[in-house]
Amino acid sequence: MAQNIPVVENIMNANDRLAQENRARIESAGVFSINIMASPGAGKTSLIEQTLPRLKDKLRVAAIDGDIATSIDSDRAAAAGAQAAVQINTGGDCHLDAVMLRGALEQLDLKQYDLLIVENVGNLVCPANFKLGTHKSVLVASIPEGDDKPYKYPGMYRGVDAVIINKVDLLPYVNFRMDYFERGIQVLNPGVTIFPLSCRTGEGMDAWVEWLLKNAGK
Ligand code: MG
Ligand code: ZN
Repeated sequence: MAQNIPVVENIMNANDRLAQENRARIESAGVFSINIMASPGAGKTSLIEQTLPRLKDKLRVAAIDGDIATSIDSDRAAAAGAQAAVQINTGGDCHLDAVMLRGALEQLDLKQYDLLIVENVGNLVCPANFKLGTHKSVLVASIPEGDDKPYKYPGMYRGVDAVIINKVDLLPYVNFRMDYFERGIQVLNPGVTIFPLSCRTGEGMDAWVEWLLKNAGK
């Protein structure tokens, strides 16, 4: 098995190089960019839908949505107010990589936007291993998934810049120990910013939107 390791490393290096090129392209256009990752159903697209109206008249937003199939998510982003929405269909791949993002970036005139939101494919394992070139990574967790996720998927929690805990309106109905969950995150990623919120009720959304505005220099 050991002889496979260099091959994997080469693939990762190639991806990292392309991610650096993506970053340079995004930076030169003066755009702030985030990569949103989560398991399927945690609320990535709902978060984008609830965030965009709150950024109206403040940031011009482009959304890139990765999915195995369909353009449902990019359609939702466009309907919610994204000035541009590009869908990447991965054709079966369970994550986005830097090549796919480059292809999507080529379809955008980046200078027209202030914020680029990339929605990764729903998956709590490999998206963390493929850098895209975005400035910040955001992980969306949700109450119904359970409070043990940081312990079970440490790789996803380790490298992110912010963790959103969505669906806090369901806390009264679910056995979810917030302190246990947050302890798990802090061990893996000390001091990471955590935003408990609900895309359904809107509670907690303001702090998240402020974080975006601050990072985008607004
Ligand atoms: Mg989605
Ligand atoms: Zn994958």
